[in-house]
Amino acid sequence: MKEIAVLGSTGSIGTQTLDVIRLHRDRFHASVLAARSHVDQLLAQAEEFQPHCIAVTDPEAGRAFRAAYAGPAKVLTGENALLEAVKRTDVDLAVVAVVGIAGLEPTLEAIRQGKELALANKETLVTGGALVTAAADRAGCLIRPVDSEHSAIFQCLLGQDQKAVHRLILTASGGPFRGKTRGELAQVTLADCLKHPTWHMGQKVTIDSATMFNKGLEIIEAHWLFRVPYDRIRVVVQPQSLIHSMVEYEDGSILAQIGNPDMRLPIQFALTYPERLPSPSHEFVDWSAISSILVSEPDEKVFRSLRMAYEAGQAGGDAAAAFNAADEEAVAAFVQGRLPFLGIYDVVEHVLDGWQTRPVESVDAVWDADRRAREAARAYIRGQGSC
Ligand code: NDP
Ligand code: MG
Repeated sequence: MKEIAVLGSTGSIGTQTLDVIRLHRDRFHASVLAARSHVDQLLAQAEEFQPHCIAVTDPEAGRAFRAAYAGPAKVLTGENALLEAVKRTDVDLAVVAVVGIAGLEPTLEAIRQGKELALANKETLVTGGALVTAAADRAGCLIRPVDSEHSAIFQCLLGQDQKAVHRLILTASGGPFRGKTRGELAQVTLADCLKHPTWHMGQKVTIDSATMFNKGLEIIEAHWLFRVPYDRIRVVVQPQSLIHSMVEYEDGSILAQIGNPDMRLPIQFALTYPERLPSPSHEFVDWSAISSILVSEPDEKVFRSLRMAYEAGQAGGDAAAAFNAADEEAVAAFVQGRLPFLGIYDVVEHVLDGWQTRPVESVDAVWDADRRAREAARAYIRGQGSC
């Protein structure tokens, strides 16, 4: 029985991880459930999965949870709850599926504690890639990616000569605004952004898919996971979300991973690697329903996020942390109606243009860059006036 800590159990990836655990109760047990604030959902999950430990990071939600929960699990609350949870001896594998930079320290702790690691949280590698990869090398930890593109690349690299990798080819669905002009994007609303054509995900990653900042974050994530330089990572649009990504080798061969768009597939593979279990949906690609596989170049003039990601990644140090934080602030302002859609690009560009890159030698340096970038982003948003 593999004991699993699900960090972010109430979110999109977290609930789908629990779906996979539910399908394989003979192999997996959710020993830890952790979330920030959704008390009722956590109570229902605790009832169903009978964990040994439940972590709630928001202090008020933590108090509400303690008042409502009468079960036998240990309850941890407050900002250190995730760290305490991953240290537990009854955790074999940690699924890090919290959103944002909150994933960084639990990921580092899981690596230090010698746990197996299934990493969904891309912000961890974007902001602290140098720290995480160094820690993983020291501990001999193989990071199993959950992000579908990175799981695809991970799979396309298995059994291959890593020295013969020519390029990584990340696929993007293009989101709901594929093919639109800048003019057409000027008036788009939050509701338009949340209509993703192929994936159902949390709000932040769905908006990032619409701006293609998600793909920008994934370029940086791929750089750290697979140690491939930025000029050997490219993006193509594959609107059907069938090809999840590809690896091109020196001899000109390209290996692609293809499957229905269902996050439970990469989640399950991260839990069972190197073994493969039956499809979580019991469905297979229906080739009779596919007349062609579409691939095109992204429009980098409209989706400026890709160029910004390459620049931030290549600048090194804490520039990618600034890229991530500026995007989070801009997305929050857009969600609150304080910034138009295209303003998200302007905020990130402004923060990166004024950024003095510093080295990332500690978690504190990441938090410091995060704070400074957020301040710069907020000041810029205030200066633009409300929309
Ligand atoms: P959601 O917003 O759906 O869920 C986030 C989860 O994290 C919730 O359980 C939330 O708890 C919890 N959480 C947030 N902050 C904290 C914190 N400080 N402490 C403890 N728990 C916290 O996000 P997603 O599931 O969509 O995404 C999770 C991560 O996976 C992101 O990094 C995203 O980029 C990545 N990812 C997601 C994909 C997807 O398909 N959704 C695909 C690929 C990557 P609560 O609900 O209680 O507030
Ligand atoms: Mg992805």
